[in-house]
Amino acid sequence: MTQCIAPRSGVAFELSQGQVLEVIDPQGEQVADLVAFSRDDLNEAISSGRSIDYASKIFLTTGDSIYSNRSRVMMTIVADTVGRHDFLLTPCSADTFRIIYGHDHPHRGCHGNLTAALEPWGIGPDQIPVAFNVFMHVEVNGQTGELRVLPPKSNAGDHARFRAEMDLVIGLTACSAEQSNNHSFKPIHYRVLNAHEVP
Ligand SMILES: [Zn+2]
Repeated sequence: MTQCIAPRSGVAFELSQGQVLEVIDPQGEQVADLVAFSRDDLNEAISSGRSIDYASKIFLTTGDSIYSNRSRVMMTIVADTVGRHDFLLTPCSADTFRIIYGHDHPHRGCHGNLTAALEPWGIGPDQIPVAFNVFMHVEVNGQTGELRVLPPKSNAGDHARFRAEMDLVIGLTACSAEQSNNHSFKPIHYRVLNAHEVP
């Protein structure tokens, strides 16, 4: 069954080894921040640094692995109709909106939404890792390292699928940052597929 994450909000749920999480952009140009923790030990979480290091590239897509801070494969990307995501930037937060956008009364952002959604598992704000930012389009200048956040390349109905390689707690958002979503906040859809349901 397809679930809907309302604009500028987030959810958390458990995913068992072998299940596949499908993240769908229902309208196009919307980012979803994805974090994952090992259900057996919540101090084990996805690691941008290790995943990028072991892949020897910063843009991950179908066939690539998302490693934990303990160098175990937590998820494998098994389908990707967009082919461009970000694994460099931290979830947007009240600090993001204060520092980058200059907002006086900032939204809590993905970081706040993830913290609230993951609270029932006892996961606190300091445990939120760099998210795998599904559909986020960050342009990198290979010479200077300068980054630019551009509108996502995703169109309505695009999706990416992540197979759980261990039992996980997942946090997932419809991102709250203007730049990331071409200045319009939209929902994100997702569904959990059992192994025999994966097309
Ligand atoms: Zn965000």
